[in-house]
Amino acid sequence: MRAVCALILSLLCLEAFAVDASDRYRSPRNPERKIRPSTELIVLHTTEAPAKSSLAKLSERGECHYCVTEDGTIYRIVDRDKEAFHAGRSMWNGKEDIDKYSIGIECVGYHDKEMSLIQLYAIRDLVKDLKAMYRLTDDKVVTHSQVAYGAPNKWQKKKHRGRKRCGMLFAMPSVRRILELKTRMAIDPDVRAKRLVVGDPYLEKVLYGKTDTLRSAYANVRLPKSSSSAVAAQTKPRAPSASTGGGIMDWFRPSASSAPPSQPAKQQPARPRPAFKSIPSTIAELKAQGYTLRGKVTPGCTASQIAGARWNRADTYYTIRNKVIPGNTINPAKIEVDMGIWMK
Ligand SMILES: [Zn+2]
Repeated sequence: MRAVCALILSLLCLEAFAVDASDRYRSPRNPERKIRPSTELIVLHTTEAPAKSSLAKLSERGECHYCVTEDGTIYRIVDRDKEAFHAGRSMWNGKEDIDKYSIGIECVGYHDKEMSLIQLYAIRDLVKDLKAMYRLTDDKVVTHSQVAYGAPNKWQKKKHRGRKRCGMLFAMPSVRRILELKTRMAIDPDVRAKRLVVGDPYLEKVLYGKTDTLRSAYANVRLPKSSSSAVAAQTKPRAPSASTGGGIMDWFRPSASSAPPSQPAKQQPARPRPAFKSIPSTIAELKAQGYTLRGKVTPGCTASQIAGARWNRADTYYTIRNKVIPGNTINPAKIEVDMGIWMK
């Protein structure tokens, strides 16, 4: 019976999420992964290998939440509220095992090599969405090399930062400018607190100093003054097609034409969909997007009594004191009396 319920629930979820998502490389590890306790960092990686082999490996092992390829296509690998094993031996501000606190994005490319603008713009837009969803500031977008650390070994007698240079370019000011990240981490808190020593002085100069080897590569890139939408429109990732099976890989990415052929047409009414489905952040926006208040949490009425199995889905919203919290990011321990629950 439980298996049947799980099947029905997963089919319901598929229906909700598959509209905009192709799961070509969605990891088979998803069912066994735990929900992450919190999301405090977005960790950018470089695959150091070509797309095809990287995607296959990342998917098989469930090693990131998203992978962005050179043409700006975004693939979903592990569901974004679950733990992906992307950071390995890691520490930030005294907290170890960063997988429990972060979203991991793999970018096809190399830690010190220029990436195409179309790829960087896709990363920028993905990061922008995730920052909004998890309410993170620009400095919380870090590189894997910033949080990875090495155990003592033959060459380095102490625990050290500099186990790898993964994602190093994303700390360079020239690249952060393209990603529209206005700040970066100013110091390494674990080195300062002497929990770690510097194991790679060059890496330290890139992460926290002025070393920026890609400055000339991006010197002439002019960014839009206000909104990035003009650039986004010009550089929209290639639309997925049935023939390649590739394309846009997340439910909040542009869709309409991207529905896989297996989607019955009746699930896609003629009503045109916006290119970007924005995450509502006010009650007015919830109403405008067709959500209605289904009830309020009281001492005698729990969230799951109101929302059922949908209590933790992305299309269920909680409201309290003018805050709007998507169901898939809410900490169950923080569901409180008086919270409104909104669904379609
Ligand atoms: Zn990495």
